[in-house]
Amino acid sequence: MANKKSSRDRKYRPETALVLAGRSPFEHAGFVNTPIYRGSTVLWETYDDLIAHRGRYTYGRRGTPTTDALTDALRQFEGSAGVMLTPSGLSAITTALLAVVKSGDHVLITDTIYRPTRVFCDSILTRLGAEVQYYDPLAGADIAKLFKKNTSTVFLEAPGSQSFEMQDIPAITKIARERGAVTLADNTWATPLYFRPHEHGVDISIQAGTKYLGGHSDINLGTISVTQAHFKQVHDTHGNLGINPGPEDVFLALRGMRTMGVRLERHMQSGMKVARWLEGRPEVLRVLHPALESHPNHAIWKRDFSGASGLFSFVLKPEAQKNIGAFFDELELYGMGYSWGGFESLAIPFDCSGYRTATTWNPGGPAVRLHIGLEDPDDLIADLEAGLSKLA
Ligand SMILES: *Cc1c(COP(=O)(O)O)cnc(C)c1O
Repeated sequence: MANKKSSRDRKYRPETALVLAGRSPFEHAGFVNTPIYRGSTVLWETYDDLIAHRGRYTYGRRGTPTTDALTDALRQFEGSAGVMLTPSGLSAITTALLAVVKSGDHVLITDTIYRPTRVFCDSILTRLGAEVQYYDPLAGADIAKLFKKNTSTVFLEAPGSQSFEMQDIPAITKIARERGAVTLADNTWATPLYFRPHEHGVDISIQAGTKYLGGHSDINLGTISVTQAHFKQVHDTHGNLGINPGPEDVFLALRGMRTMGVRLERHMQSGMKVARWLEGRPEVLRVLHPALESHPNHAIWKRDFSGASGLFSFVLKPEAQKNIGAFFDELELYGMGYSWGGFESLAIPFDCSGYRTATTWNPGGPAVRLHIGLEDPDDLIADLEAGLSKLA
């Protein structure tokens, strides 16, 4: 599947792979970027070639030079055996789960999972005969106590969706491996730039490419990266389900990927600056950002992660509830909307108390999730200051 000379694989650091990998200009008349190949039918030149299925491409759904450019690049970026693409982050998660879970299995899912993942587990996985159990994201090695004879799968996500708890991923993957369970991790927040799932024992590493890979809030895309041991299983299920992203979204992901290194650095720096400023504000009860020393799981972040992205939350004092709408309406630079990972800043209110089952969510006041974009952080701080003044 290599689009570049395979001798170059894995020789480069992730930031270099992001720029270099998956490009073969001289296969495309010298043009720097792999163009958009559209197509369903792929022709064979001779009867013998057709009968032998000779050649790299067989059918549009099963891959094109454009999708290969992205999967080859991501394989090097993740340091894995292979990568499959799907039309959304959620479909990457559901495809990977359908590849590894079978009827009668016991499946352990972190309680702080991205909520649509939870809905899929409670509806479709359960309907297909799997037993789904949620676990405390802080369980660490204690997850061993939850294992049963039929535990086949452990799903991780760190930091936790909305609430930013950090998981001890190496401790959990070690136990899973000892007991023969497969581990999947949703690594959308950190991306492989700041956390390397496969190096921490994760078998299947998933990203919503919708977020930082695209980086411009204009695509939906999912990526599933697998170790050699799980390649065939996931590749076959992905093929059997017949899902493939549209070529334009793949092209836009390739384009976004080239600048991901510098974008993430800026998201991190600005995010930290805004988070630290919020920590000093009298209206704020606490800031939920794993890279802050005040975060209860900061030590895990420091040990396993090399950076942070631009997404975090904060909790306001309870009296803020009565004017919370005025806070949001006053913001000019933060859009109110779901998804994140683009160049622009976002703010949404959230409340996890209605759907967590293994843990309780009781933050002590109204909670706000911010995505810090690429605007000047001092403008972002001034905008928040104007919003907070409306709480009085
Ligand atoms: C957005 C998101 C997804 C889903 O991605 P879509 O492309 O919107 O389906 C999955 N996991 C996490 C952590 C996300 O933030």
